Amino acid sequence: MEYATSVTNDFTPALTFKHYQSRPAQALIDLSALRHNLQRARQAAPTQRIMAVIKANAYGHGSITVAHCLAHAGVDALAVACIEEALELRAAGIALPIVLLEGFFHPDELLLIAQQHLQIVLHSPQQIDALMRTKVPRPLSVWLKLDSGMHRLGLFLDELHSSWQRLKAVPEKVSHIRLMTHLACADERNNNYTEQQCQAFYRRLNNLEAECSIANSAGILGWQCSHAAWGRPGIMLYGASPFCNTQGFEENLKPVMHLRSALISIKHYQVGDSIGYGAAWRCPESMPVGIVAIGYGDGYPRHAPTGTPVWLNGQRVPLIGRVSMDMLAVDLRPLTHAQVGDPVELWGAGVAIDEVARLAGTITYELLTQISPRVPRIPF
Ligand SMILES: *Cc1c(COP(=O)(O)O)cnc(C)c1O
Repeated sequence: MEYATSVTNDFTPALTFKHYQSRPAQALIDLSALRHNLQRARQAAPTQRIMAVIKANAYGHGSITVAHCLAHAGVDALAVACIEEALELRAAGIALPIVLLEGFFHPDELLLIAQQHLQIVLHSPQQIDALMRTKVPRPLSVWLKLDSGMHRLGLFLDELHSSWQRLKAVPEKVSHIRLMTHLACADERNNNYTEQQCQAFYRRLNNLEAECSIANSAGILGWQCSHAAWGRPGIMLYGASPFCNTQGFEENLKPVMHLRSALISIKHYQVGDSIGYGAAWRCPESMPVGIVAIGYGDGYPRHAPTGTPVWLNGQRVPLIGRVSMDMLAVDLRPLTHAQVGDPVELWGAGVAIDEVARLAGTITYELLTQISPRVPRIPF
């Protein structure tokens, strides 16, 4: 590595700098937007405590950065999918309560769960059996998950009281029991399935005294009936709309991720010239075409069709042809003085991620969680 030891070569500092980044693709993470969105969740359901959902690397934003920011902003708890995600947060110094949304997958996890003060969801009689058979060094806080109509995980509603009794009988294993359920259709504002789920849940509670949690982001913003002791906002914290037919800004949410790259080439083509793989797009006239250094290898959706907007020099320009692994092409006819090196935003403030998701035939959750590890997350 001759350039690593040379001190006279101009390139040396950059090439030896640990964080040197040759490629312009990056995800800027706007922490003030994150705080704004948290505030929005609080304002929509002022009596609820907030369990911020930061599973899957905080929906692709970087769970440690997001957890520190939310901890400072005073959330009451965090939720992740599994113990590995929780241990990463504990190792980074996060002391907040952390809930494992699927509980444990194997009873071997229970020792660490107890030692690290993690809370678990219990969603099946088998999990309860396993807890009954396993020694724990201190009693755990648990969330009994009930199936009020999602029909994915959860105890049937008529299993609630017997399960509650079993857990109440072992105070050396269980210190707190709380209840949760998950909504299947809350993203559709006119679908009364949500009210049916809430009613079914509350009807079964009878006079059981327990803290409950029903609302995800859509519940928090759209369904008063789902507001309970705890809310579990996920997608709204990141600034995307939880509803199927609105964009984040229409719900007064601010985008946290700004996915950016830059123009690395501009060339002029003639009428009839084809652009990219499959020669799938042809120039209708003599025109400039820009190449942006980002592609599906970074998590930008390959199914984003021709016409999907990208933000360039304060203007929307259309993507053309097929998205490649590391690059995509844009029609520069609307922007005659674009230059190589100009920054490009794939989603963020100029283009809402909700719009890209719709055009690509997917949802914002998938786009955010698919951003690949090679894209550096840069908080600001
Ligand atoms: C992911 C998840 C949430 C958050 O849902 P959003 O739609 O992102 O707000 C809430 N509760 C559970 C059980 C989840 O798995």
